[in-house]
This record gives sequence, C-alpha cells and structure tokens, in this order.
Amino acid sequence: MAVSEKKLQKAIDRLKQSGVRITPQRHAVLDYLLNAMVHPTADEIYKALEGKFPNMSVATVYNNLRVLREIGLVRELTYGDSSSRFDCNTSEHYHIICEECGKIVDFDYPSLDEVESLAEQVTGFEVSHHRMEVYGKCEDCKELHTQKQ
Ligand SMILES: [Zn+2]
Ligand SMILES: [Zn+2]
Repeated sequence: MAVSEKKLQKAIDRLKQSGVRITPQRHAVLDYLLNAMVHPTADEIYKALEGKFPNMSVATVYNNLRVLREIGLVRELTYGDSSSRFDCNTSEHYHIICEECGKIVDFDYPSLDEVESLAEQVTGFEVSHHRMEVYGKCEDCKELHTQKQ
C-alpha cells in the first residue's frame, strides 16, 4: 500500500470515529489533498475535481474543507488578502513561500518552543501557537529567471 493510501485510510478512520459522513466528494477532497504535495486553495481543489463531480460547487468544497479542519485533518493557512490554502500535513513543520509564483513548500525544523516561552514571559500572553514563514524564489522561478537573461 502506498504511503498516501495508508494516510487516506487513517484519515477515513478518523472521519468515521468523529461520526462524519463520508460522501464521495469528501473522500475526493481528502484524497486530492493527501496526494497533492502542494497547499492548494479551495478554488484549485474545485477545479481539479470538477470533471469528476460536475454537480459540485465551490461552496461544497469549502464546506468539506471546514469539516476536515474541525476534526483536525486539515490545516487552514490564511494570508490576509488572498484566499486560504489548505495543508493536510498536520505535523509540526514550517513553510517556505515563493514570492514569484506563491508556491508553498514544507520543511522540517525543530519547533521554536523558546520563542513561545520568551513571548509569554515578555508579554504576559498565553501563547497558543506560532507561525513562521520563510520567503524566497523557488527553483522553477529561479530557472525561468536565468533563461530570460
Ligand atoms: Zn516560484
Ligand atoms: Zn505545509
């Protein structure tokens, strides 16, 4: 069994345990997220699945993503103006974002727990989590740039 299939099976078990009904669309959204190693927007997911489910709307995709987020299978990444992106990698990891094409790539780095405790000490806040993003130009965009010259 491929890794993504195992992940999908685990995610489906989790849905069942949470008493969430597994509709074909919900299954497809989950499957797409687990296989797409990118961080798609709801719109991108909709476009990818539209052929398979002609009756599905963007609202259905959003609704499914919300359900998956509520039971902790998917993380929503919000970026102010632009639409949210969805991440099915719910383990601790950081992101590097391409400033040219907007691609988001995962990378592992020891969690910066010290930042959280320092922030608590300095500000008196009760810290819930933190988010760190690294920005730059991805390999594809770097290549495009050199070709142009
Ligand atoms: Zn790029
Ligand atoms: Zn990620």
